[in-house]
Amino acid sequence: MKLSLVIPCYNEEENVLLIHDRIESLFLDFCEYEMIFINDGSNDKTLENLKKIAKSSKCHVKIIDFSRNFGKEAAIYAGLKEAKGEFVSLIDADMQQDPKYVLDMVSFLLDNPYYDSVAMYQEKRKEGRVLTFFKKTFYKLINKISDTKFTENASDFRTFRRSMVDSILQMQEYYRFSKGIFSWIGFHTYYMPYRVLKRATGSTKWSFRKLFKYALDGIISFTTAPLRIATYTGLISSFGSIIYIFVVIVQKLAFGIDVPGYATVITLILFLGGIQLFALGIIGEYIGRTYIEVKKRPIYIAREIISNEE
Ligand code: UDP
Ligand code: MG
Repeated sequence: MKLSLVIPCYNEEENVLLIHDRIESLFLDFCEYEMIFINDGSNDKTLENLKKIAKSSKCHVKIIDFSRNFGKEAAIYAGLKEAKGEFVSLIDADMQQDPKYVLDMVSFLLDNPYYDSVAMYQEKRKEGRVLTFFKKTFYKLINKISDTKFTENASDFRTFRRSMVDSILQMQEYYRFSKGIFSWIGFHTYYMPYRVLKRATGSTKWSFRKLFKYALDGIISFTTAPLRIATYTGLISSFGSIIYIFVVIVQKLAFGIDVPGYATVITLILFLGGIQLFALGIIGEYIGRTYIEVKKRPIYIAREIISNEE
């Protein structure tokens, strides 16, 4: 049996050394395995240290050096593509996800042929209240409007069987929202709890703005429901306006009341103008992404692929 560990790295110069040593010490007698590091356009010494690792390591090490920063999703895709293992695990480079859990995941899959993958989830989130609130709201919203199911708190820390990896690679979209892709392709996933550790060194690459954009990508990639907002609000406001026209005519003919104009007109113009721009914006988001997708640009570009295997 062969296991591949896919490790995306963006400015993790010290962590790559730590995680390599940790994996090497844990997996020594476990099985045949390879580590695939993706250097996602780091501007520190990550690549230098990875090359050192490849030279001195006792196990198989492969480095995919990206030509620039393409993002973690692209790094995951590249890693899965290069992985040769019968089992493939995704793991962060920052030591927040202890590699010892990989052994649990693989053992579980060996014992339970019914399952095709194991996903780790955090029992307790150690995040601020505001972020937890937004994440909860996001999962509620996307599960309501999308047919694809999203499991809250499930992480990218996962292990797949080969068949599932091949299916993930068939999803060739440019805007990759992994959690959606993993769920969309189906298969049987088992959820296992784990404890997240503190980042060993360096800092997180996610700001609130980036997370918000990522959430938007997720929604737009996995449902077209927002496009219906325009249809529904259009229907409702048309229906409302028919009633209102009727009221105005009756007021004028039966009671001779002149409609006091300014306030009504200005409110309606602003309200409808706002809704129209909002709906246009939503359509624009979808068209923009369609534009990028039809160009069929590669998901990542590798400067170099280095391997210490003969
Ligand atoms: N990462 C990456 N490219 C990016 C951002 C992050 O390859 O553009 C990697 C990063 O090096 C780490 C993993 O993705 O190994 C998770 O990133 P991070 O720890 O910043 O995310 P968090 O754990 O805070 O969600
Ligand atoms: Mg992290």
